[in-house]
Amino acid sequence: MEKINGNAAVKFFARKDIPLEMHKVRIVQSLKLVPVERRLEAIRSAGFNTFLLGTEDIFLDMLTDSGTNAMSDNQISKMFVADDAYAGSQSFKKLEKSVLEVFGKKYILPVHQGRAAENIISKAFIKEGSLVPMNYHFTTTLAHIQINGGKIAELFRSEAMKIKSTDPFKGNIDPEKLEKFILESGPENIPFIRMEASTNLIGGQPFSLKNMKEIRKIADKYGLMLVLDASLIGENAYFIVNREEEYKGQTIHSVLLSMCDLADIVYFSARKVTSSRGGAICTNSDELYNKMKHLVPLYEGFLTYGGISIREIEAMAQGLLETIDEDIVKQSPLFIDYMVRELDKLGIPVVMPGGALGCHVDATQFVAHVPQSQYQAAALVSAYYIAAGVRGMERGTMSSTRDENGNDIFSEMELMRLALPRRVFTLSQVEYAIDRLNWLYHNRKLIGGLRFVEEPPVLRFFTGRLEPVNEWPEKLVEAFRKDFGESL
Ligand SMILES: *Cc1c(COP(=O)(O)O)cnc(C)c1O
Repeated sequence: MEKINGNAAVKFFARKDIPLEMHKVRIVQSLKLVPVERRLEAIRSAGFNTFLLGTEDIFLDMLTDSGTNAMSDNQISKMFVADDAYAGSQSFKKLEKSVLEVFGKKYILPVHQGRAAENIISKAFIKEGSLVPMNYHFTTTLAHIQINGGKIAELFRSEAMKIKSTDPFKGNIDPEKLEKFILESGPENIPFIRMEASTNLIGGQPFSLKNMKEIRKIADKYGLMLVLDASLIGENAYFIVNREEEYKGQTIHSVLLSMCDLADIVYFSARKVTSSRGGAICTNSDELYNKMKHLVPLYEGFLTYGGISIREIEAMAQGLLETIDEDIVKQSPLFIDYMVRELDKLGIPVVMPGGALGCHVDATQFVAHVPQSQYQAAALVSAYYIAAGVRGMERGTMSSTRDENGNDIFSEMELMRLALPRRVFTLSQVEYAIDRLNWLYHNRKLIGGLRFVEEPPVLRFFTGRLEPVNEWPEKLVEAFRKDFGESL
């Protein structure tokens, strides 16, 4: 054995992979874990739809990261000094200053949330027959483009649909597909190309800066506008700094500025990162600003409050400044990466590599014995709630629609999304979520299918009600009691 100063040195390995929280918690909210029998009752009264559960029955709420992130002490304190005014508020001036500093854009149109920005952009630029190429859609984006008579084309690479991948940038647009699409459709029918940072519906997967530069070049070649959905831009920039060789060691701020510089319009939902409400459209172009400006007082509110309270304008202004702080931005991707890698070690099928906003479990493999027509992802989400008291979200066929013959349009992916709202959960809570999912995985054969009993014609996943095809939820509770004894 080696000797150091006469003492035997014990060989020891320091762990480098602990996802450390670079913050301390000063305000807390109590949680309760209700017994498994109550969880079964609760999910039954919610029609096996986790959107219809009440938080009194939920232990860890991993439904979404929208409007549920923790705010910083600086954000909360700024809200107390808000300059309430219908027009010309000083708080709005702070927001303008933040947007200029963080995104490098001089004009900002505030709106009440992300989809309101999409409404205004679509109203201003989409007409009957418009075609919008993009990396992938977001639910509200698609709806706004369609309602104004447009259609979308998703030009991702095949890697984007692969569950277990090592591709660091599954959110890239395929440049060849894009150019082909422009030539076939005619540039005059394309109002803009849309790139979504940390592409939400494919697992929070980023695009590379190299890819965005290539897309910008193509846009210039055909005289097209590039619109950036920046709702999850901080994390995309973090992934660029950490995964893209050329930008390693750069600051998140410089990458953010480069990304925004490549886009003619940058819009975002502030619910996702910077605040609990709000959103905005930003640009440097006088012409584009003037095309959208008049729509804001019509749909949102005056140009200096955009339908949200001035307190929320303050929170957004401060939150934007915090998206250039790597210590703040990295917490969520680090936790997600940890969760994804631990689940993978246990053999649980999960979307890889880890992205932004949450961890996505592949129901197609998890409950391979349940037919897709019995809503695999929805069944897994209900079963997991019963087993753990953790609320996830279905992202599969239940979130899809039916064709004109009334048949389900099967989703390309059947996912259970477990969102990790930023800085809300501790690592032991994440460990608990992993452990219960592991138990469920070992008992997965007990999970059965679901069928609709009440099905709204649009966005059925929000308020639709289902029932189990047999007594499988009771059997699951029985197995739980056998293994967990008296514990909850
Ligand atoms: C959430 C989200 C939106 C819509 O924002 P809301 O504030 O929920 O209306 C748009 N785009 C992306 C990428 C999002 O994640």
